[in-house]
Amino acid sequence: MKIICIGRNYAKHIEELANERPEHPVVFLKPDSAILPKKNPFFIPPFSDDVHYEVEVLVKINKVGKHIAAKFAHKYYDEIGLGIDFTARDVQQQCKEKGLPWEKAKAFDGSAVIGEFYPKAEFDTDNLEFQLDKNGAIVQDGNTNAMLWKIDELISYVSQYFTLKKGDIIFTGTPAGVGKVVENDLLTGTINGKEAFQIRVK
Ligand code: ZN
Repeated sequence: MKIICIGRNYAKHIEELANERPEHPVVFLKPDSAILPKKNPFFIPPFSDDVHYEVEVLVKINKVGKHIAAKFAHKYYDEIGLGIDFTARDVQQQCKEKGLPWEKAKAFDGSAVIGEFYPKAEFDTDNLEFQLDKNGAIVQDGNTNAMLWKIDELISYVSQYFTLKKGDIIFTGTPAGVGKVVENDLLTGTINGKEAFQIRVK
């Protein structure tokens, strides 16, 4: 399976990192080795002093597809979840300055937290609230209604470049409020009030 990630999909997050608003979705990949095994803590990697959490709504692809029209995209997923795109912000900044790819900052081992999935029928996918709680305080509070590109548009867009396969997961971008993790932080993600994951930082 592969993990396809979308960057810069919420206007307020673009502002907080002083990034340019993109003309098209920003796309990058994580390999399956980036998945943090269930119940494992997240270990801050030795090559970064500034790892950030980014809570994101996840979409699990249910069948193979390519060049999917947005109006048919809803047929390619049944489940919605929540996860974290851990990002070595200092490494990413160096990559950005040099115009280099982001993989070292975004695709390292453990960088993809994949929480529980729920049937999409339980949700209004275009008006879905989600939060990240850090040590008892909400640090990110998002709603998919603020996405620049909606889930169906993202599926359509990425399927122009990558054949989507059953089990692939799309990380749909993070809202504002990203920040640094330190040892012993406890991160809890909720989607529509349901706890989708809890991660201890080591
Ligand atoms: Zn992200």
